[in-house]
Amino acid sequence: MTLEYALGGMTCLDCSKHITMALERVPGVVAAHVDYRAGRGRIELQPGVGPTATLEHALIAAVERAGYRAEPVVARDSVTADAPAAAALGAAPPAGLSDTPSFASETPASTDRRPTDGHPTESAAPSVARTGDVDFDLLIVGTGGAGVAAAIQAAGMGAKVAIVEGGTLGGTCVNVGCIPSKTLVEAAAHIHAARQGFPGIAPCEPAVDWREVVRQKDALVDDLREAKYADVLASYPGVARLRGRARLLGSADGVVRVRVSDGDQSAEHVARRVIVATGSTPAVPPLPGIDMVDALDSTTAMAMEALPASMIVLGGGPVGVELGQIFGRFGVKVVIVQRGAHLLPGEDAQIAEVLREALEAEGIEVHTGMAAVRVERGPEGVIVHVRQGSVDGEIRAERLLVATGRRPTTADLGLEDVGVALSPTGYVQTDATLRTANPNVYAAGDVTGGPAYVYVAAAGGRVAAENALNSLRRPDGSNATSTGTPSAEPRALDLSVVPNVTFTAPQVGSVGLTEAAARAAGHRVDVSVLEMQHVPRALVAYDRRGLVKLVSEASTGRILGVHAVAPNAGEMMGEATLAVRFGLTVRDLSGTLHPYLTWVESLKLAAQGGSAGVQKLSCCA
Ligand SMILES: Cc1cc2nc3c(=O)[nH]c(=O)nc-3n(C[C@H](O)[C@H](O)[C@H](O)COP(=O)(O)OP(=O)(O)OC[C@H]3O[C@@H](n4cnc5c(N)ncnc54)[C@H](O)[C@@H]3O)c2cc1C
Repeated sequence: MTLEYALGGMTCLDCSKHITMALERVPGVVAAHVDYRAGRGRIELQPGVGPTATLEHALIAAVERAGYRAEPVVARDSVTADAPAAAALGAAPPAGLSDTPSFASETPASTDRRPTDGHPTESAAPSVARTGDVDFDLLIVGTGGAGVAAAIQAAGMGAKVAIVEGGTLGGTCVNVGCIPSKTLVEAAAHIHAARQGFPGIAPCEPAVDWREVVRQKDALVDDLREAKYADVLASYPGVARLRGRARLLGSADGVVRVRVSDGDQSAEHVARRVIVATGSTPAVPPLPGIDMVDALDSTTAMAMEALPASMIVLGGGPVGVELGQIFGRFGVKVVIVQRGAHLLPGEDAQIAEVLREALEAEGIEVHTGMAAVRVERGPEGVIVHVRQGSVDGEIRAERLLVATGRRPTTADLGLEDVGVALSPTGYVQTDATLRTANPNVYAAGDVTGGPAYVYVAAAGGRVAAENALNSLRRPDGSNATSTGTPSAEPRALDLSVVPNVTFTAPQVGSVGLTEAAARAAGHRVDVSVLEMQHVPRALVAYDRRGLVKLVSEASTGRILGVHAVAPNAGEMMGEATLAVRFGLTVRDLSGTLHPYLTWVESLKLAAQGGSAGVQKLSCCA
């Protein structure tokens, strides 16, 4: 006999695995087949087991405990009334009514607890049970990429979870980072394409309505925040959303006390483990006069009511060059001032030079090796006093955009009160398993100072939640392996291979070691450079800017790094990352079929000897 269920809340293959495992643990079930794309599950029952109300109840409860929703796809009247076999089927009570903790092992502390905050939509969900004096197995501070990934992971492990947000749900990426900036990158690309034309298609000056572009961008952000954060969190009944700013009050006896304050309301909660996922905010450099000029940062720049005539961008990192090019294409006269020797510090210098030429070709003024020393108001808006070598000068513009970096959000979190150590620059220090100096507190995302990408934050959130919850299964709550417990080994966050993409035009993508870093690390390297003018796709696009650089170990051909500046270089990084991560060789790449007239074919052509090699080849040979 088989039953079919509609299953809610699944986003990936892992979700279907969690539900399959949960269903297959229900007595009477032989096998479950769950398809996350279809949102359906087919459940095979043991011979003689029928679709009773109790069984239905047990199946739904199992799915809910895993953090998802289930609805039978059968006519209600085909389900028979409770059979005496219910107890034999081991029916579980509905999620949230259990009085046993999900991750029992520790003595709960008694605390002065008050009810959860009174926010109407974001208070503790009623399905979350109290476990003695402990409110939650895991309390996560921050709903950005790291926090939400941690919540999904923890819900999948059956934990009672709270996630706290003191600002805007979704954090940086969806609200003021990746999504709005890339929407503006796309808008700017349309302006540029219209101005460029194409052979046979006359260029034209498009009519641009900045305010309407911003409005559309904000609407998209709202939609995505709702769909990918609010709705996703709501689909996990074991996750309670708390509204307010969290502060850690104390940590003893294996629990952490956390106060959540929202205006004049506040509540205290007790959690067995806490994850700090509070992210970062734009940093303002300590330049004399900077407070006097109403400087923009990435957040305020993308929300401007009107565009200025001119703008100085301080900082030539990814955010500075992306925004600089966006505003340049929208008609703002942009000057980028970069203290380092080249744009995009950390990227290959030759690659950064190609980007510089591309920006300059669009009319953007780029200064490298130039430091801002002082800022003041001027007749046009702002004057930045600069020094380049021993030469002093000044640059004038209507607005100043500061894109010199970000700082971790750790103020007023009470981290010092619970023994969490910070680095000299203020980042939360963790070991490789993301545990802080306090064994009950973990951290993930930008606040830990790793590569500031949302996919790194999300990977960290998952690892932190898994390790935090598994540590509850050890008698001493430690990360050390303890014999005789069913817990998994703590997992280290693997950041050995992290792809980087800067969404300029041309894009810059890289993974692995640069030529300079590989040599500095003692490798004997081969370097193959392919200019995009040899790539068929670049020829038909009439966009031949850029190059791809393959760095490999001379003795083995193992690919150590891939660096590209080209249209769609970001799309090449998926394959490049696999190549570096799994130790592929130049021969592996050159011997693999690549679809003709794709940008990623550049990697194969680079492996076939780069520019020198491809000149002796036919177009697709
Ligand atoms: C302009 C820009 C463009 C970017 N583009 C990309 C891109 O294209 N690709 C990419 O991968 N990355 C990009 N990033 C980086 C990416 O956005 C971040 O790395 C990522 O969002 C960090 O996630 P997080 O979860 O660590 O922190 P955040 O997303 O910052 O979330 C932290 C959350 O914690 C909340 N919080 C802080 N303190 C408290 C407290 N005490 N109590 C309660 N809540 C609190 C904050 O309100 C916030 O919502 C970009 C960043 C910027 C600024």
